[in-house]
Amino acid sequence: MANKGKVLSGIPAAPGLAHGKTVIVKQQKLEIPYFEVKDRNAEIDRLHSAIDKARTEVEALKNSVSERTESNEAEIFEAHNMILTDVALFDQAEEAIEGGTNAEKAWMDAIEFFAQMMEQIPDETLSSRAVDIRDVGRRVVGHLLGVRVVGTELTEPSVIIGDDLTPSDTASLDKDLVLAFCTASGGPTSHTAILAKAFGLPAVVGLGEKILAIPEGELVLVDGNQGDVYIAPSEELLSEFLQKEEAEAEMMATARKAAQAPAVTADGEYVEVVANVGGVQDAPLGIMNGAEGVGLFRTEFLYLDRKSMPTEDEQIEAYTAVFNNYPMMPVVVRMLDIGGDKMIPYLNLPEELNPFLGWRGIRMMDGAEEIFLTQFRALLQAGARTEVDLRIMIPMVSGVAEVRAAKALMKAAADALVSEGKAVPEKVQFGIMVEVPSAALLADRLAKDVDFFSIGTNDLTQYTLAVDRTNSKVAHLANPLNPAVLALIKRTIDCAHAEGKWVGLCGELAGEPIAAPILLGLGLDEFSMSPARVPIIKQVMRKLHRDACQHLAEVVMALGDDLEVARVSKAFIDDLGLPF
Ligand code: PEP
Ligand code: MG
Repeated sequence: MANKGKVLSGIPAAPGLAHGKTVIVKQQKLEIPYFEVKDRNAEIDRLHSAIDKARTEVEALKNSVSERTESNEAEIFEAHNMILTDVALFDQAEEAIEGGTNAEKAWMDAIEFFAQMMEQIPDETLSSRAVDIRDVGRRVVGHLLGVRVVGTELTEPSVIIGDDLTPSDTASLDKDLVLAFCTASGGPTSHTAILAKAFGLPAVVGLGEKILAIPEGELVLVDGNQGDVYIAPSEELLSEFLQKEEAEAEMMATARKAAQAPAVTADGEYVEVVANVGGVQDAPLGIMNGAEGVGLFRTEFLYLDRKSMPTEDEQIEAYTAVFNNYPMMPVVVRMLDIGGDKMIPYLNLPEELNPFLGWRGIRMMDGAEEIFLTQFRALLQAGARTEVDLRIMIPMVSGVAEVRAAKALMKAAADALVSEGKAVPEKVQFGIMVEVPSAALLADRLAKDVDFFSIGTNDLTQYTLAVDRTNSKVAHLANPLNPAVLALIKRTIDCAHAEGKWVGLCGELAGEPIAAPILLGLGLDEFSMSPARVPIIKQVMRKLHRDACQHLAEVVMALGDDLEVARVSKAFIDDLGLPF
């Protein structure tokens, strides 16, 4: 490997390699004037008109983002529109104007008040949305001042550097000229990360202040797979990187072409590669990318963004629409998994000090059984109306009693439907998510009560390592390749196989090329990932031999930490000539 020279390491937020010259996106500092107004009604009209202009712009941005991606990233601008129509926000600004304050000052004070309120919510996902409020604030005040405050004009292909880019910064850039994103702050769930993934561009976030000191126009190499940015590379490093970049592009092209073919290992074993989907909108993406079914259908979408519980009929309709994309194929539906960082306002869930350790997932059956009964009824009826191979699983299981209670409820739902003369599927597999360490430790006992396990490494990692998955300050510690997490994965697989049951994995880890040989070596039966990752993982599988993977798994299980595991697995992948 060539001398690496100056390199900054951050959090890999969107995969891929890119090289190019930097453009620094800085937020223009706005001077907000403060003066007394006489004609208060005219000033309120001025604010109204600025908000209207901002709404038109946001609507146009939303449309252009949704035209360029198939996923639902445009929803960020839906949220911006909601801020622009927020009555409390407007009322507060109006009140200040009625007291004689000019519109710019009144509006920005109200924006800052609400942004700070948001920041104080002890939930990273919600508190980080203060950035949206301030983004909207600047957009409106730009119209009041008659200056352009968002958007950077690109003239050539560039690597974008910034602190934490706002959605407006990111979306208003000409994507044909963006090569990659590198940001000083932000975590894996930041807007930059979400939008970069949606556009298929590499991104590294959380690089620290030093990234902002790079001069504009400097050549950098961005490794979105490892989370590294090389600054002003040597000739030798550049040519090595370019080779890798070319090899990865070639492999992506081959993978895309072969996406619809099954994943068969180099020694002739079929591997089941399926998709994670989140609703009616993205259900077709799995099939389009070559997934052979669904390994995780997150049903939360049906319950969020509305004012009351979805009825049984509404649910039947939505599930039927999703299932119809996968005739004769397995679809694993996860029962409602809320609590933790996912909230449903109309349920008025009590506030908890530690929501990730609280009343979430299947624990809600004790106290809100009706919700699950209705969902079981809807799923069974949708299953009977379609040709899908229906599998149902429950989230956040920590022990045997929860499994038996949920299974009994599913049986009660089926019995009631039959007695009402309604059709139910002949066979429905019943499984559980293994995402709490106790479930992995009790896997030998739990395996007797289920048809399958699906390992949720996102939560299993947070609970095993005591690392909040939404806290960007500790994001670097949350690595599922930690040998402690791998030990629980191995135990889960071994216990299931001893009972003749199959095991899938539906956390982000399933879509990581570096993890594929380890997981195959541990005996994982099914890999479920975001649809865009399906072609590449299938292509990786085609290079693997089970014996060698088993040996690799044995070696890494004995290592001391996640970095050692990553290093050894990366060397294994390199030896196969895979460019990750
Ligand atoms: C997981 O925890 O790994 C998982 C797949 O579920 P979610 O990310 O929805 O919690
Ligand atoms: Mg989970």
